[in-house]
Amino acid sequence: MRESFISQRISLVYKYRETRMKRIRLLLLIILLSVLISSCNINRNSISEWYYPDWAVNARYNQSIKVMDTESALGRYALKTKEITLKDLALIHGHLCDGLVISYIQIKAVLEKLFPDGIVDRTDLRAVSKNGPCWVDAISTLTGTRTNFGTLSIQPEIGDGFIIQRISTGESYSVHLKNGLFPKELTELENKIRKAGAEKTGVNPEDIDKVEKMANNLSRKLLNSMPEEILDIKKIDKYKFEFKFETAKRGDIINKDVSR
Ligand SMILES: [Zn+2]
Repeated sequence: MRESFISQRISLVYKYRETRMKRIRLLLLIILLSVLISSCNINRNSISEWYYPDWAVNARYNQSIKVMDTESALGRYALKTKEITLKDLALIHGHLCDGLVISYIQIKAVLEKLFPDGIVDRTDLRAVSKNGPCWVDAISTLTGTRTNFGTLSIQPEIGDGFIIQRISTGESYSVHLKNGLFPKELTELENKIRKAGAEKTGVNPEDIDKVEKMANNLSRKLLNSMPEEILDIKKIDKYKFEFKFETAKRGDIINKDVSR
């Protein structure tokens, strides 16, 4: 009788231990899965794609931008922030080009000055850009400025740079690449291709390959340079924002049918 009671107790203890072990294993599995899922989210933009090469992923100063927006069409400020990367921008714009990379670096550096806490309020910005596809896509995506709301002014005279203003404080900066950083040979080859297209004399496919390679080399160099060393940022006191708008011919599709 007593022996049977003892063996019953032992069996109960074993059962209890087994259940506890099962629970611990399940808990460990859940923890492991959540760590894996969160690391996948963190690394979402650390994965290269055919349109976003390894050199962009691994570039030293290629970091994301933290932004804040409203929660819905009629909503209040969202309580959480989001991160935008150069990869997101390449996806929205259609390709990763030197203009997009230069814009990203320039805009990011100014936003860091306008929002020292590191969270960019995309409801509180106005900007001036030239009428280039890469430049306008970059500034509107990263800052929330729009031509249709009069917060993105198109002014070709700004050149390859921007003026960005925080509406609530009036604080404004202009940003450009430092003189001499954009290779002369790249400008010359770009002009040669544009001229051949405009005059319909036939664009040399090899020139397109060459210009893409040169542009990628420039992007790679800039993304691995300290922003302070490559940018010319100027504070503009009492900047009076004026909205201007003009249409232009889209320049990044003119050679889409050139043979490979
Ligand atoms: Zn582009």
